[in-house]
Amino acid sequence: MTWSILGAGSLGCLWAARLSRAGLPVRLLLRDRQRLNAYRALGGVTLIEDGRESLYPIPAETAAQGAPIQRLLLACKAYDAESAAASVAARLAPGTELILLQNGLGSQQAVSAHLPRARCLYASSTEGAFRESDFRVVFAGHGQTWLGDEHGGPTPAWLTELEQAGIPAQWSENILERLWRKLALNCAINPLTVLHQCRNGELAGHPDEVAALCDELGQLLHACNYPAAAQELQGDVERVIAATAANFSSMYQDVAQGRRSEIAYLLGHACREGDRLHLALPRLRAVHERLRAYLVARGLPDT
Ligand code: NAP
Repeated sequence: MTWSILGAGSLGCLWAARLSRAGLPVRLLLRDRQRLNAYRALGGVTLIEDGRESLYPIPAETAAQGAPIQRLLLACKAYDAESAAASVAARLAPGTELILLQNGLGSQQAVSAHLPRARCLYASSTEGAFRESDFRVVFAGHGQTWLGDEHGGPTPAWLTELEQAGIPAQWSENILERLWRKLALNCAINPLTVLHQCRNGELAGHPDEVAALCDELGQLLHACNYPAAAQELQGDVERVIAATAANFSSMYQDVAQGRRSEIAYLLGHACREGDRLHLALPRLRAVHERLRAYLVARGLPDT
C-alpha cells in the first residue's frame, strides 16, 4: 500500500526519503500546481544526513487530484492540519488510516472530528529535522516516534515497514498521555525562552517561574486524568533544560524567524482545558497572555 504524505516540509520529507530508499511505495501530495512545478524542477527531495546529501526522486501530485488514498501521513503544522486534511477528504477511501504528526494537542481531535470514517492515529516524535530550502531537509536529531489510537484498536501491521525504513517507531497504548507529557514539557520551557529571549539553558536562572509552571501543569494533568504524565514533571523539565542548554527552542526559532508558532496547540490548549475543568492556573494564563502580547507586538498570529 502506498504511503501518501501531505506536508512536504521537514518531517514529511524526512519520512518520505527514508520510506523511498527502503523501496516502499511513497508519494508526496503538494498544495497546488505551482508547488508541484517547483518540486519537479528540483528533481526530488534532498536529505542531508551527517553532512552527506542524497536526492530521492519521489513521485508527487497535487492534493486535489489522484487515486484514492489508503494511508496518509499528515505532516503539516498543527494550525494547517484541518485545512490540509480537508483538501484531500474527497480522496480518502473508507477506512483510510491517517497518521497525524502534529505537535501539541487540539489539531488531532479537530481533524478526527471532520473525518469520522477514517482511522486517525496520533504521533509524538522526538526526531529533529529542518528545511534548508524547499524540499531540502537536514536530519538534525535522531529520536523516536510513538504512535497510537485514542480509541484503541489493533496495532497496525505497517509498523514493520517503518522498521524496514529505519524510522524508529513504537506503538503506544496511551498516546494521549504521551502527547500531554510532551505538551507540558513544551509549555514549561518554550514560552519562557521567547519571553526571556534566551537559550533553553538560561532558564536555569529563572527557577521560580519554571517551578510555578510545572506545578500548575501538574495540576492540569491530574485534572485531565493523566496522573502518570504529571510524575516527576519538574525534574524532567530541569533535565531537558540542562541537556539542551545550548539550544534555542522551536518556538523561539519560529518567533525569531517571523514564522507563526503553534502556541494555540500548546499553551492555548492547556488554558482551554483549564477553562473546561474550571482550574485557576494563574501563572500559566499569565505567561499565555504575555506571550500573546509579545507575538502581536511583532505582527505574528497569537493563536
Ligand atoms: P514544516 O517544515 O513547516 O512543514 C510543513 C509542511 O506542510 C510545509 O511543506 C507546508 O507546505 C505543508 N503544508 C501546509 N499546509 C498544506 C496544505 N494545505 N497542503 C499541502 N501542504 C501543506 O513543519 P515540520 O517542522 O515538518 O512540522 C510538522 C509538525 O511536526 C509540527 O506540528 C511540528 O511541531 C512537529 N514536529 C516537528 C519536528 C521537527 O524537527 N521539524 C519535530 C517534532 C515534531 P509549504 O512548504 O507549501 O508551506
